[in-house]
Amino acid sequence: MLRDKIDLDESVETNDRITEARKLGFIDILVPVLTLITIVNCIVILILVMNIGKKVNGLEQRLLLLEKKALYEEYEAVKDKNQMVVDDSGNSSEVSEVADIVAVAELEDTYKWNGSEDSASDIRRVYLTFDDGPSINTDRILDILAQYGVKATFFVVGKNGYTEQYQRIVEEGHTLGMHSYSHRYSEIYASLDAYKEDLTKLHDFLYELTGEDCNIVRFPGGSSNTISKVDMQELIHYLNQENMVYFDWNVSSGDASGESKNADQIVNNVLNQIDKYNNVVILFHDAAGKGTTVDALSEIIEKILESDNTVILPISEDTIKVQHLHE
Ligand SMILES: [Zn+2]
Repeated sequence: MLRDKIDLDESVETNDRITEARKLGFIDILVPVLTLITIVNCIVILILVMNIGKKVNGLEQRLLLLEKKALYEEYEAVKDKNQMVVDDSGNSSEVSEVADIVAVAELEDTYKWNGSEDSASDIRRVYLTFDDGPSINTDRILDILAQYGVKATFFVVGKNGYTEQYQRIVEEGHTLGMHSYSHRYSEIYASLDAYKEDLTKLHDFLYELTGEDCNIVRFPGGSSNTISKVDMQELIHYLNQENMVYFDWNVSSGDASGESKNADQIVNNVLNQIDKYNNVVILFHDAAGKGTTVDALSEIIEKILESDNTVILPISEDTIKVQHLHE
């Protein structure tokens, strides 16, 4: 009996030990498993976060690309707009110089020549000058001048595709003056060397095309321009050294002003100012989009020729110098 009780106690004890051992085994397994699950979770979360980061990066880049594309398209549109100007007859041409003209138009139109160089004379001399050509209007201008047997002065820029017009100017007895090859203020007025380079390029270009050794100059914007980074006196000194003569103007036709002028306005602008001087240098522009200048020309010439003791002449070295600035 006692033996049985002892056996029973032992059995109970053994069962307890087994349960305890099972418990211990379960915890021993559970802890590493939980740890493992936690680690795996962390890795999964890390990967997800990295992926989201990549996706965000990709989206950002795509957005940047789209933005760049939009900017480029905008730039192209603006560039196209700036490069071409369409005139009344549907022709188009470069307008960098037209933009330049607009930039100084105010200056050109507001400059008042004091006339100190104007010598008293019985004869009034009128000089018609055309800046910025050749252009699609050059032939029309030359035709009108030929019709009245009148000689003028063309302060030209360097342009390809106008060989015939440069040659016509010379062959028909007009003065071929130098304005600037590029007519880009930021370039030509950046330094004395840059100005020299531009003018030499134009001189050689014209010599090549026409055989003319040009020495009559008009500064873009006039000698009184306020755009040049170089002291204009330095440029004037250089021209003197090279035996070149520069001419400004004392009458502006106003054809370069911001808002375009109709032919009547141009005619009145010019005729109302001519009486003020004995030597009248009139500023016109030979440029695309300046069709009304050409329309105004016949009437201007007729009225001048009708005036007493008045002649229309091309500018030469001997012409009394109408200059805004002197050395
Ligand atoms: Zn000009």
